[in-house]
Amino acid sequence: MNPPQQMKAKLADRLAFNEKFIQYSFVLTHPHTLVFDPGQYVSIVVDATGDRRSYSICSKPENKDAFDILVDISPGGVGSQFLQNLQIGQEVDLLGPMGRFIFQAGGTEEELVFVATGSGIAPFRSMIMSLLQEGTERRPMTLYWGMRYVEELFWLDEWQDLAESFANFKFHPVISKAVEEWPLCRGRVTDCLSMHEVPVNAAYYLCGNAKMIEEVNTLLPQKGVVIENIHFEKFF
Ligand SMILES: Cc1cc2nc3c(=O)[nH]c(=O)nc-3n(C[C@H](O)[C@H](O)[C@H](O)COP(=O)(O)OP(=O)(O)OC[C@H]3O[C@@H](n4cnc5c(N)ncnc54)[C@H](O)[C@@H]3O)c2cc1C
Repeated sequence: MNPPQQMKAKLADRLAFNEKFIQYSFVLTHPHTLVFDPGQYVSIVVDATGDRRSYSICSKPENKDAFDILVDISPGGVGSQFLQNLQIGQEVDLLGPMGRFIFQAGGTEEELVFVATGSGIAPFRSMIMSLLQEGTERRPMTLYWGMRYVEELFWLDEWQDLAESFANFKFHPVISKAVEEWPLCRGRVTDCLSMHEVPVNAAYYLCGNAKMIEEVNTLLPQKGVVIENIHFEKFF
């Protein structure tokens, strides 16, 4: 893993999926490259006092001169406001790459299970795209993604393309306020995992809100998963 360094990047693009989730694309200005492992994050200075907020990189690591983040702006605090007000071309100060929530290659587990809530999907986009497209990982992989409304889901084409192109990848959104016709799991992602048989000999990667992480960390050992196989990143 590369040590974090002070960097500058300018906002190149912004894509609002809805009122809550926005993807920001940055181009590095100093230095010009960021070498990171999928799952790592950047720590962005969000006010004049030097306050920082962390955002997982959601783009693939091959793009070394640029990176994307996916932000849930609904907390509405200093970080959310800073990013909402950021103009195209404006420069930010950041520290990166940060974090140890990266894929543990070479494990003997038979399957890989990724569990996200909300913006916790961000590091998994980078991780799963890399694992599948590099072709190094052939074990069955399932991505569970808990969201409130079906209309809030984004990157759907990408997940569906991956599921069609790679027989070992399954995409499983879980909707807490689902319409009656919703064919998959409804409720919380934890409800979905507790109702279904989950693979015991699997590596689990959890990312999102603290409540989900705590609940799934309690549930999985009850189902026989050893804690060494559970990796997680809490978003606050
Ligand atoms: C390692 C790491 C990676 C992260 N990656 C991402 C990411 O990829 N995308 C992303 O959107 N966020 C991510 N976060 C969360 C992000 O850093 C901020 O904490 C979050 O955006 C809120 O910042 P804020 O300044 O807007 O709100 P704050 O001023 O920090 O908080 C405002 C209010 O909202 C509550 N709150 C704080 N965070 C959340 C939250 N995530 N959901 C709901 N309520 C919250 C607080 O308790 C407080 O009441 C990550 C956090 C960590 C630790």
